[in-house]
Amino acid sequence: MIRACVIGWPIRHSRSPIIHGYWLKQHNISGSYDKVEVAPGDLADFIAAVGGDYAGCNVTVPHKEAALMLVDDVTETARAVGAVNTIWSQDGKRHGMNTDVAGFLDNLDQETPGWDRAPLHAVVLGAGGAARAVVYGLLQRRASSIAVVNRGRERAEELVRDFGEGAKAASFDDLPALLPAATLLVNATSLGMDGKPALDISIHGLNPEAVVTDLVYVPMRTKLLTAAAAKGNRTAGGLGMLLHQAVPGFEKWFGVRPEVTPELRRLIEADIAGAAS
Ligand code: NAP
Repeated sequence: MIRACVIGWPIRHSRSPIIHGYWLKQHNISGSYDKVEVAPGDLADFIAAVGGDYAGCNVTVPHKEAALMLVDDVTETARAVGAVNTIWSQDGKRHGMNTDVAGFLDNLDQETPGWDRAPLHAVVLGAGGAARAVVYGLLQRRASSIAVVNRGRERAEELVRDFGEGAKAASFDDLPALLPAATLLVNATSLGMDGKPALDISIHGLNPEAVVTDLVYVPMRTKLLTAAAAKGNRTAGGLGMLLHQAVPGFEKWFGVRPEVTPELRRLIEADIAGAAS
């Protein structure tokens, strides 16, 4: 039996076992996918043991950056983003990749086809780990401009420096000037998530053709998405990114490329709704 898991600290909130459990059942695979709480001090030993009890694992907060340094080999994408969220064992080595980039792009491709039509002018709110994956993905899709809007200017400038010419740092005060020309608006901050402060921006002047996406998926329909839809803009929620980023790991560990089906989406939606009630 093949075993995989997700590691984090804490880990009880993770919905990954529902996603992988659904695919294991759907493909009739004799395998398991667990949640394992790993303290920062135990991370190196846990990763060194991948290939033994566990064929691989997903890595979540707060271990994604540290995991990059602890695997034997990383993909170009993981190195550029600066984080590993999926580990597998092959030829006696532990390999790390970052599937948030593909998750972000695949979700938009499925939910809002044509979103990356040239010229692509993106406004990305946030400059943390998720924003790095978003900016890297947008550069892969040859974005004409990317404005990285962050509360802390230094973090936005550091991100922009790491990715070269394609992106520019900006602040929330610049939004009124940026939104009329934007073709994509991404919330990659944690604002708007249950338990966090609201994302308090006006999208009054947003280009009516712009696609709006929010990486936050609890709640599933954030205030940003609701306001954008009310204006007539096309929208994509963060839940799709969570589902799509899980695909490459499952394929590596269990040997089948699974699909993000409407049934899987409904399963996770029900779980989120249940947790909120
Ligand atoms: P992170 O590295 O901690 O970055 C947090 C970002 O939010 C930073 O840009 C930070 O700005 C900003 N922020 C936090 N509190 C703020 C406040 N009060 N005012 C203004 N800005 C604030 O987190 P992350 O890993 O990038 O994750 C960001 C969000 O994406 C989270 O909600 C996470 O759940 C979500 N996410 C979703 C998926 C998915 O599959 N849908 C995948 C990855 C992440 P400063 O730099 O100024 O602090």
